[in-house]
Amino acid sequence: MQSVSLPRPLALRRLVLTAAAAVAVQGFAIAQGVGEAPPARSGKDVFRQLEEVLPTPNAYRNASGAPGHEYWQQKVDYAIEISLDEDSRRFTGSERITYTNNSPDELRYLWVQLENNLYSPDSHGALVEENSGLAKEGFGTMRAMLARDEFEGGIDVLAVRDGAGAALTHTVVDTMMRVDLPQPLASGARTEFEIDWTFVMNDSREVWARAAAEYFEDDGNWIFEVAHWFPRLAAYTDVNGWQHKQFLGRGEFTLEFGDYQVEITVPADHVVAATGVLQNPDEVLTAQQRQRLAEAERSDAPVLVITPAEADANEQERADGTATWKFAAENVRDFAWASSRKFAWDAMGVDIDGRRVLAMSYFPGEGEPLWSRYSTHAVAHTLEVYSKFAVPYPWPVAISVNGPVGGMEYPMICFNGPRPEEDGTYSARTKYGLISVVIHEVGHNWFPMYINSDERQWTWMDEGLNTFVQYLAEQEWEPDYPSRRGEPRNITGYMSSANQVPIMTNSETLLQFGNNAYAKPATALNVLRETVMGRELFDFAFGEYARRWASKRPQPADLFRTMEDASAVDLDWFWRGWFYTTDHVNLGIVGVEEFTLDPGDPQIAKARDRAEDEARPETLGEQRNAALAKRSDRYPELLDFYNSYDEFAVTYQDEQAYADLIEGLDPWERELIEREMPYFTAVTIANHGGLVMPVILELHLEGGLVQEVRIPAEIWRQNDLRVTKLLMTEARIESIVLDPHEETADVDTSDNHFPQQPVRTRFELFKDKDKQNPMQLERAAEKARAEAAEGAEAVDDGGEGAVGGR
Ligand SMILES: [Zn+2]
Repeated sequence: MQSVSLPRPLALRRLVLTAAAAVAVQGFAIAQGVGEAPPARSGKDVFRQLEEVLPTPNAYRNASGAPGHEYWQQKVDYAIEISLDEDSRRFTGSERITYTNNSPDELRYLWVQLENNLYSPDSHGALVEENSGLAKEGFGTMRAMLARDEFEGGIDVLAVRDGAGAALTHTVVDTMMRVDLPQPLASGARTEFEIDWTFVMNDSREVWARAAAEYFEDDGNWIFEVAHWFPRLAAYTDVNGWQHKQFLGRGEFTLEFGDYQVEITVPADHVVAATGVLQNPDEVLTAQQRQRLAEAERSDAPVLVITPAEADANEQERADGTATWKFAAENVRDFAWASSRKFAWDAMGVDIDGRRVLAMSYFPGEGEPLWSRYSTHAVAHTLEVYSKFAVPYPWPVAISVNGPVGGMEYPMICFNGPRPEEDGTYSARTKYGLISVVIHEVGHNWFPMYINSDERQWTWMDEGLNTFVQYLAEQEWEPDYPSRRGEPRNITGYMSSANQVPIMTNSETLLQFGNNAYAKPATALNVLRETVMGRELFDFAFGEYARRWASKRPQPADLFRTMEDASAVDLDWFWRGWFYTTDHVNLGIVGVEEFTLDPGDPQIAKARDRAEDEARPETLGEQRNAALAKRSDRYPELLDFYNSYDEFAVTYQDEQAYADLIEGLDPWERELIEREMPYFTAVTIANHGGLVMPVILELHLEGGLVQEVRIPAEIWRQNDLRVTKLLMTEARIESIVLDPHEETADVDTSDNHFPQQPVRTRFELFKDKDKQNPMQLERAAEKARAEAAEGAEAVDDGGEGAVGGR
């Protein structure tokens, strides 16, 4: 069913261009607008430059958006030993931290992050959790609420010692710990200290987190996805000093680069995946696994190092004792790992910048058949595409692990949740959900793992930029890939919604988190690339941002400035509108005026005036009055000169005046009158949403010609509410489409057509939702067909018991 509503039609108005004789013939004056009140402006100054908002450039980060000549950052190296007791989910560790103070400042204490303290019942984060909207809660939610209150998830710091073994004074403040140094650490100096600690990991059925242990009832096994598991140095920066804003759950991790040596002791039959390169394969892998891994590195398609069948066999047994897996990682800002006896493992090599990088996946049988088919390919694809748009992938491995965490990123390793149904079928949503989440989480290796933005402050700087490149990677996966975020038309609902805050808002204060920090900045960058800057300029500038800030610590201003610096495109209006306000795009065509040229020839002008006069409709009163008897019928002497005067007749004076006019024209003016003129059309566009944008018009001309006009956003610089553009075309404009490719995120396209188009909507007849995914439906259909065929055979055979009743 379709209903059609026709909102206010746009009339085509006709104005006349006059060569006003009074203007003493200095060409033609466009009389439009004369005498009208000046159109309203918002007074917002949307093109005001951002310099007064952005931080003042300095020696650490300069005015072009690049690291300054005195840029510095700290370095923190870790040597860690950790062991896991599987049954109690208890981790016990010891680490030696080497802290290098590259700052110009003397430090008297160091701040260490203890993120797991968030999971203590009395943590700041737990206490400030707000609970409006409680009503009908499922069993799972109730279980989680109770478990959260009982789970003693904090981290126990057992000891803090200096390099010589003497105890160091330390003070725990919620998720941060201050370690007081016996001697101030001078600029350029280095210190070593040690921490011992223990904690119990949350069970994913009860407490949600970015790290978790998942229990499998059928075989009694666990998958451990292990992150923020060791005390890590808080960042000390030129922007914040210590970034020790407490971890409340959303603002993620602001960290320092350094080198890691990590020894992980787990049950002997576990398989461990981790940040970095395995140092002792001879001790923890079988000869066959090592040989398959070597083969995988040479292979351009995934090779199984541990097959799902081998993993299934492994998970049925319990080995005695433990094994220690040793990993090393250079220049990373964190370290995460995963461990289970359930893991199958596949890998392939990818050429990046002349190096061979290993793309790998670890997954339980529950992930099949999806994981062996898609995960490692998605890892490899991400390495290729992101290396092209940002900087080449800097590390030797990239890993995707299936487990309890839906999607979370760490250097070289990420955790991804999607799995098929128990029967091995899966919906399209699950399939593309898996590919997309792997691309997204592996993509985080660039933003923020390598281009190390401050996650605790700005969620968008990693999530938004990453979601943007994720979109680019998805579009290079297969034709018509169903990307959820990136296309401008997908953001319009959010952009016009209530209850928004600007992108430039702290992570913890964001409303509509996913749309604000992921979808909107990703879409904004896409609009910049396709509509405002063009692909060539954008890609160069975006690549320059990644190159400048690789292995460094960028701030929003560094991105804003670099994108301009490398492109010569003034983008202040764009950053201001999209990142500092909650305005949306809503442009509309509010006026179209067609101009004809009138050089003043009275023969032409008066004939046209007469025609226009005659074309006016007779009013109802005129129609009815015509039949009335008139006094002048009775007294004809009342009629005089004016009763027969024809105001449209060309007079002697008209002829003379025109002749004088022509004679007085300069030769170029006479030429102008005689040449063939284009069609003049003035289009007036209103800005109803607040965000200024380029005006893109598709003109359909008489005779079938289609022409596109792309006007930069600066057309709004003097009036951001209403602008008029004069178009000159070879033929008459029959119709106009504003934003014909839906590239600007215009939230209401009903006023984007001239003449106005009917708005088409439909009455939805409601239908039952399919409970089964399409693969399951197809299986059911196959089964039904087979049964029907069997039944037919049975009948052919003259047998009994044909399938199905009547
Ligand atoms: Zn993310």
